[in-house]
Amino acid sequence: MEPEVNFSLICPECGVGNSPQALNCLVCDRDLEKTLAFLEDDSFDLEVTIECLVEYRKNFWGTNRTGKVNQYHRDRMENLEFGEEISRFKFDYEGQRKVLAFRKENLEKLKALIGDSPG
Ligand SMILES: [Zn+2]
Repeated sequence: MEPEVNFSLICPECGVGNSPQALNCLVCDRDLEKTLAFLEDDSFDLEVTIECLVEYRKNFWGTNRTGKVNQYHRDRMENLEFGEEISRFKFDYEGQRKVLAFRKENLEKLKALIGDSPG
């Protein structure tokens, strides 16, 4: 455990950095108890929680969220595949193959978070 205070956990609601141990956002009070990480990518923002991945779709320019939200329960995701040359995350979900295009650094963070989880 790192002794120094950091604010690396970005609030999915307002974008403010919080401590990874924070239970609620400092600014908007959103519940962060289950939030492990928040990744901003080009076509979506992705919240990684203990139980699921929440994909907040963004518009073509990546400037605003469209309001469309996809939620994937981690215990229903199978055959996870992290692309090396083309940074894509693929998985089976409820009978469908899903593909999310990630920035490389985000894909590496995601892999570190959920790639080695048993089951
Ligand atoms: Zn917030």
